Amino acid sequence: MQYTEKIVHDSTDRELGMHRRITRRDFLNGVAVTAGAAMMPWHLIAEDSADPEKSPNYYPPALTGIRGSHPGSFDVAHSLRDGTFWDSAGKPTDTGETYDLIIVGGGISGLAAAHFYRKAAGDKARILILDNHDDFGGHAKRNEFRVGDRHLLGFGGTYSIESPAPYSAVAKGLIEELGIDVPSYFKYLDKDLYRSHGLTSKIFFDRETFGADRLTVNPLSLRFGDSRDRGFAESDALRKFMAEAPIAALAKQDFRRLYEEKKDYLPGLSSDEKKAKLARISYAGFLKNMVGVHDDVLRMYQAMPHGLFGVGIDAVSAQDAWGFELPGFDGMNLDPGPGKGMNRDAIPNEEAEKYFFHFPDGNASIARLLVRRLVPEAIPGRAMADVVLAKANYAKLDQANSPVRIRLNSTAVRVKHVSDAAGAKEVEVAYVRGGKLYTAQAKNSILACWHVVIPYLCDELPDKQKQALSAAQKVPLLYSNVAIRDWTSFQKLAVNSVYAPGCYHTGMNLDSPVSIGGYQCTRKPEEPIVVHMMKAACQPGKPARVQHSLGRIELYSTTFETMERNIRDQLARTLGPGGFDPARDIAAITVNRWPHGYAYEYNSLFDSFWLEGGETPCEVARKPFGRIAIANSDAGAYAYTDEAINQAWRAAGEIVKS
Ligand SMILES: Cc1cc2nc3c(=O)[nH]c(=O)nc-3n(C[C@H](O)[C@H](O)[C@H](O)COP(=O)(O)OP(=O)(O)OC[C@H]3O[C@@H](n4cnc5c(N)ncnc54)[C@H](O)[C@@H]3O)c2cc1C
Repeated sequence: MQYTEKIVHDSTDRELGMHRRITRRDFLNGVAVTAGAAMMPWHLIAEDSADPEKSPNYYPPALTGIRGSHPGSFDVAHSLRDGTFWDSAGKPTDTGETYDLIIVGGGISGLAAAHFYRKAAGDKARILILDNHDDFGGHAKRNEFRVGDRHLLGFGGTYSIESPAPYSAVAKGLIEELGIDVPSYFKYLDKDLYRSHGLTSKIFFDRETFGADRLTVNPLSLRFGDSRDRGFAESDALRKFMAEAPIAALAKQDFRRLYEEKKDYLPGLSSDEKKAKLARISYAGFLKNMVGVHDDVLRMYQAMPHGLFGVGIDAVSAQDAWGFELPGFDGMNLDPGPGKGMNRDAIPNEEAEKYFFHFPDGNASIARLLVRRLVPEAIPGRAMADVVLAKANYAKLDQANSPVRIRLNSTAVRVKHVSDAAGAKEVEVAYVRGGKLYTAQAKNSILACWHVVIPYLCDELPDKQKQALSAAQKVPLLYSNVAIRDWTSFQKLAVNSVYAPGCYHTGMNLDSPVSIGGYQCTRKPEEPIVVHMMKAACQPGKPARVQHSLGRIELYSTTFETMERNIRDQLARTLGPGGFDPARDIAAITVNRWPHGYAYEYNSLFDSFWLEGGETPCEVARKPFGRIAIANSDAGAYAYTDEAINQAWRAAGEIVKS
């Protein structure tokens, strides 16, 4: 494979290494190849092949550049949305294929639905799973890198088995059935690795937001409040922070006061009345108007909820902030226990917190274990641990002789009953693959795809249900994985995780040190490693749903070149004092773009029904219709893997009963 060198126009780009040959490039826009891997870009294979997955070179986890919702995966769905698709669709080709069940969406919900259906209907049940991406797993995607002789894994989306509330019996049951031994996690985690090198979590102040670039200790704590519990006010960390943080002197005073004041900002109200008020104001509003802190304090906290909600403290309620143990509530005498309208993420639950497991590729391992169950030839091996290094054989996913077929690169465009929904014996599913329109028939269909898509697929659904489906927002996120040649700069700066409230990516971490199934995490600072960076695309100050819509547009319209430049610039400014040179040290970049990321979770600031009770939009949206059932984590308005599984189980049950 030949690379074309980009012409470098200015010295800054040269310093950042934008001219360097790395495994990425916007000229391929998401279809470049892994360093050293003998592999063709997929779109080149696709040009002369109706079945690119059958090529021995087809291996999406190793592709770099823009992944996640990669170029080519969404054009058909967007033309359906824009009303232009059917004008030029032409007559479909009937594949002649008939199934017991066709599932739209090959994420964990779709794969789990196939698994549950088979358990009820038997192993001979014929199932087709369609997904518009070039890889299975939905958000649960795997990234692979080769740096020198080192093979590195990363998570492209879903990070871990974890949930704010305990896994249901159904979800836990599936995890166990797949052989995942959650309590054994600590056997695989080298939990003291970074601590043994003296590394900790730090905060990076950027000059555009705070007037100076500076990396310093991070005294903010999102959830567990441990800094306060352990004599925070007297700690060395606080003293160091106070000396180094480039924020106004008044902001430093306010920051200390926020922890020490212990004032009741709503005197005279009962605990319930206070919670009701806090549920209706943002944490930013609480800090500014009730506590009266300097704007620099707001700027510091702004991005703290990004990882959970994809928005900042302007769009998270003060009641939820109290649930997360953010500061300011110690003097308010709030009764423990959730208030009305609290987000489930904000309600601490010890049992749930203990149920945690991270594979090196995140929950892509769950997707791969499910695929192994459904199409054993596609993923070799037998045990939980050996799935980590098992190489998926994409050519086996869609074989005529297999009862379960997984058809990638295939966007469903219509799902309809063959006669009226009440009496129909079959549904017909139309889909586009390689630019051509096809149909297949099935006794039933489960739509495990994003809810906003469903009204465009199923014209026959009742209007009220279509509206409820359309109300399901998605939270846009960027998960960028950067393979670097060594992490000596992290070691010199004594940091393994950075919160950067004013930067493009507001979070950055060295890979979690997990060794499992023959895969060895990086232990020495001189060795290559994956740095994981997270961005929530949001526009503070607007209602959450509006922020998500604007963020989605931003992610779709930003070129890889811009994302790459931002990554290089941020790494250089954060780690440069430790000797990091982006032109020398970056080996590969994979940006996992998720414009349709987390399921939208109801928010007491913007969704009055969430405070009032009654039927929620997701309950209306997920009602079965004739031979069509509806799954996906959207069906529970809950952005976690267990919900994708719970909803799959419900939907499969509805089909089996019908
Ligand atoms: C970046 C990120 C990180 C996350 N981290 C965690 C975590 O650490 N732990 C956790 O529990 N949860 C996490 N989540 C949430 C979790 O990943 C999801 O709740 C769960 O995986 C969703 O699975 P799903 O099958 O419901 O949806 P998805 O994974 O979105 O799968 C749906 C699939 O349907 C496809 N599709 C859509 N329309 C069509 C069509 N017309 N035709 C064909 N296919 C279509 C989509 O492209 C997609 O592949 C994360 C989510 C994101 C985005």
